[in-house]
Amino acid sequence: MKAIIIGSGLGGLLSAARLSKEGYEVEIFERLPIVGGRFTNIPYKGFHLSTGALHMIPHGPAGPLAQLLEYVDADVEIVRRKPIAVIRVPRKKGDTDYKYGHKDLLFENFRVPFSLWNRIKLMYYVISTRKKPPTGQSFEQWCRDHIPQDWTYRISDAFFGWSLSLKAADVPVEEAFEIIENLYRFGGPGIPIGGCKGITDALVDVIRSRGGTIHTSSEVTALKMDNGKVSGVIVNEEEHDADIVLSDIGHPATADLIDEKADIEGMDDYIRKTDKIKPSAGIKICLSSDKPLIGHGGVLLTPYAKRVNGINEVTNIDPNLAPEGKHLTMAHQCVHWNDIDDIEKEIDLGLEDLKDIFAGKEYEVLLIQSYSNGWPVNRSPSGADLRNRTPVPNLYIVGDGAKGKGGIEVEGIALGVKNCIQDILNL
Ligand SMILES: Cc1cc2nc3c(=O)[nH]c(=O)nc-3n(C[C@H](O)[C@H](O)[C@H](O)COP(=O)(O)OP(=O)(O)OC[C@H]3O[C@@H](n4cnc5c(N)ncnc54)[C@H](O)[C@@H]3O)c2cc1C
Repeated sequence: MKAIIIGSGLGGLLSAARLSKEGYEVEIFERLPIVGGRFTNIPYKGFHLSTGALHMIPHGPAGPLAQLLEYVDADVEIVRRKPIAVIRVPRKKGDTDYKYGHKDLLFENFRVPFSLWNRIKLMYYVISTRKKPPTGQSFEQWCRDHIPQDWTYRISDAFFGWSLSLKAADVPVEEAFEIIENLYRFGGPGIPIGGCKGITDALVDVIRSRGGTIHTSSEVTALKMDNGKVSGVIVNEEEHDADIVLSDIGHPATADLIDEKADIEGMDDYIRKTDKIKPSAGIKICLSSDKPLIGHGGVLLTPYAKRVNGINEVTNIDPNLAPEGKHLTMAHQCVHWNDIDDIEKEIDLGLEDLKDIFAGKEYEVLLIQSYSNGWPVNRSPSGADLRNRTPVPNLYIVGDGAKGKGGIEVEGIALGVKNCIQDILNL
């Protein structure tokens, strides 16, 4: 059996590695001259910046991605150290900014700023919702109905802004509860040694060692169809045949590659659904400093900042991601869909936040990257993912346009790939 994979992002590489382990012949077509999509490194002034991700694996060495990497025999190391996250809060109760100084709360103490009554309610909801999680509203609305307090909205916006690049108002409550459950199940984040490229390079090695092929600078311009089924892809006007095609470019872009849409049952409904997908957007600001700005390998969540949701300093775990004697710190902020056209203003607000957060510390802004539309933070906002199947027989979607339930970012990609391959092997 032969599988063609469109795109060499993490979703495409994981799928190829997994299928090659089952004996499939795999061939990947990537339109860019590099492999890894939004999960590889960009060398810049001796630093290893990235095409997308913050060099962070949401559930570290125990999560779904780490498990899948181990299963496909990828040689990677993901390091998790304490603290996994801290939360920066103003020192004086009631302050809404940092000008009176700040303190960092350990993530496990996130309950401390709640009122006593809300802490009691939280304990009750933690237990009572485990068997039957709530559904049918946004996480923010659920919080407003059950634990109304400024702190609730701030910490949930910072957490979901950092982890999903979404505001809590845009996260379905069922997805939020599944994510929280997964945090208990798999634990907090870790940093891959070598950054994102440490992982994508290891997958390339696995694929090549099992005879798979990866073509770069090779854009798939159309799907080859045969009696309403996909039978391959077209690249540079040449046809390439396959038994199955997996696409790592999301549902809408994949649908655009199908010429004979009218002949396919269920296509109208599918197109209506893909048209509704709004990729999540964000801004990443990369900083260089001589002295550590954070001083640990976990996340610094910043619920009192104007825009920045969280920051990490990956060189506290892998010093090789920066030149000797330097640190690499990256700040992330969610950009709401209403603000995408005002990206310069959003960047300025993020830079102002960093001045406040790191007041009195010296740093240089290395690079500012913004992500939306065709190169977003997530092709599908978490909780709104369509699943892996398409109405076209033998055509599947993988990657962050078809994440598994409750999977933050690349953990969702790993869960989606696992579901997809299971589906293919069961056929
Ligand atoms: C700012 C930012 C921070 C993030 N931080 C983290 C983090 O710390 N941890 C985390 O887990 N996740 C993070 N993410 C998310 C993570 O980077 C993505 O979810 C993941 O990299 C997406 O992988 P993918 O395989 O789905 O898609 P992609 O990486 O986009 O891969 C798709 C590939 O397909 C190629 N392609 C497109 N069209 C065609 C075509 N027609 N023919 C051939 N090739 C084509 C593209 O060039 C691309 O290489 C972050 C993302 C951003 C933007």
